[in-house]
Amino acid sequence: MVRTPPVVWRSRVHRYRLVGSKCKSCGEVYYPKIFSCPCGGEAEEVELPKVGRLISYSVVYAVDEESRDRSPVIVGLIDLGVTRLVGEIVDVTPEEVKSGMHVEAVFRRIGEAGERGVIVYGLKFRPVM
Ligand SMILES: [Zn+2]
Repeated sequence: MVRTPPVVWRSRVHRYRLVGSKCKSCGEVYYPKIFSCPCGGEAEEVELPKVGRLISYSVVYAVDEESRDRSPVIVGLIDLGVTRLVGEIVDVTPEEVKSGMHVEAVFRRIGEAGERGVIVYGLKFRPVM
């Protein structure tokens, strides 16, 4: 039996949903999740919009061994309206990707974890057609 490494199991909710934090005091939204806001307010969990706009991006050619088969990797800064985050952009070539395009969160293979090579999935972003 292949067992999921504990760290993967514990973080599953946050890998499979786009979850951030919202400050109960000032209303600021954060990703990744935080427990208390710099303003001193308590933060609560909030599900973030899955569609946003690509503000800018970088095409990365120097990648580690594990990512070599999908090189180059496109990494983008995404505006979700309530907050911004950095994520991998998939299903688009470096020639096709453009700042300003709309992107949506999708479930994709991220890598392997543990000695038994459990496949780990998480969220990436692809252009909205
Ligand atoms: Zn706050």
